Amino acid sequence: MNYFFLPLLPFLFPIPLHAWSSLGHSTIAAIAEHQLSSSARSQITAVLSQGRDPDLPAIANWADDVRAAAAGRGPLSEDPEARDFNDQFPTNALWHFVNLPLGIENYRLSSASHSPNNVVHAIQHCIAVLETVDNHRADFTKLQALRLLVHFVGDIHQPLHCGTGFYDLSDPSHPVLLTDPRRCGDKPNDRGGNDLWYGSEPNQELHALWDDALVYAINQSPDYELLARRLETTLVHSIGSTSGDYHNWPEQWAVDSAHVAQNAYRSLTLESASLEGQRLRISIRLAPDYLEVNQRIVAEQLAKGGVHLAQLLNVIKWR
Ligand SMILES: [Zn+2]
Repeated sequence: MNYFFLPLLPFLFPIPLHAWSSLGHSTIAAIAEHQLSSSARSQITAVLSQGRDPDLPAIANWADDVRAAAAGRGPLSEDPEARDFNDQFPTNALWHFVNLPLGIENYRLSSASHSPNNVVHAIQHCIAVLETVDNHRADFTKLQALRLLVHFVGDIHQPLHCGTGFYDLSDPSHPVLLTDPRRCGDKPNDRGGNDLWYGSEPNQELHALWDDALVYAINQSPDYELLARRLETTLVHSIGSTSGDYHNWPEQWAVDSAHVAQNAYRSLTLESASLEGQRLRISIRLAPDYLEVNQRIVAEQLAKGGVHLAQLLNVIKWR
């Protein structure tokens, strides 16, 4: 039996609502932690010493906690640093994703590439801060940049944080997914699957399924070290390096994720669409084997995220 094809329990028990789940982010950070060069490790230890967290998994969810704090929720809702950060960067919720057409070939061909508020630019900005000598000029502290970098490299490997379905809705009773990226333009999109609903419960939408249910389907435990070790014995060795200037790696990762995201749309049926104000809502039906088919892809993306994060942390010119 394939190790990852486990029973479909996630539909049966409540699942915490987080982007790429805290389990996914901590797992990616743990895989990266195990692959650090000695010099990257000592640089990271020095940056971490400015705070209280001991390692990369411990900081991997800070960005989500800061975003939740802006809405008065979560463990940082009373945290002065989170409050100051949200005051200074009120658009930071946009840094977790980029809406690219499925299967796009080049990040720079997308209109989304022109916005400074997306996950590609956020990662590039974190690298810039960590490579800045005079940190007084940088807008993040180095510790904040490291926390954000670890999180966003995780997010960019969640396929639905980069790939987004665009639609022809000329007949709302038959929404048509556009498969040619050049036809997407300013057509309505589903915001990374957030507007695709397979049930009426608040988290029964496709994005949350990929953030949470599919990750828990692989592990069925919140133990990220366990999941990291599983991925290290099965998939991590098969993940290659990214080529070219590492400052541009996030562009390649986002395009790769927008390709992988095509899988999320394969074994589902679009039923009907409605526009409630500006808000699109499309009812979908998932194939019975949807989780089984896509668990393997999620496992590969977690492994990729961990390997790519380590490669980036090992090559950054720390200052
Ligand atoms: Zn996130």
